[in-house]
Amino acid sequence: MSKFCSNCGKEVNENQDVCLNCGVRINSNTVVNSTEDKVDKNASVGFILGLISIIAWFIPLFGYPVTVCGIVFSSKGLKSKTQRGKALAGLILSIVFLVFSFINSIMGVIMNLAFYY
Ligand SMILES: [Zn+2]
Repeated sequence: MSKFCSNCGKEVNENQDVCLNCGVRINSNTVVNSTEDKVDKNASVGFILGLISIIAWFIPLFGYPVTVCGIVFSSKGLKSKTQRGKALAGLILSIVFLVFSFINSIMGVIMNLAFYY
């Protein structure tokens, strides 16, 4: 990955603090941008996991990790400026289906107990 000077646009070395071309200090813009990219990605992943978490309803064993991951990624993605809605939707979906599959599992246990006793 390469960085570019914010002043003159010349490519600079990644571990360089000062641009060799114009002498301007390489500010943390690049770092901030990559963090934002990461947050946006988290929001998208959280949203997709939220959609996938619907299967938690049917296959709790597979769905639990998906819903939990969805919650983790979505809450990280909430910091995103552009993808906040996605992250929020993913978070809500993940929590809703985590709760649903949890209730389902408990119901299953109760049904089993009722069947055996
Ligand atoms: Zn420069």
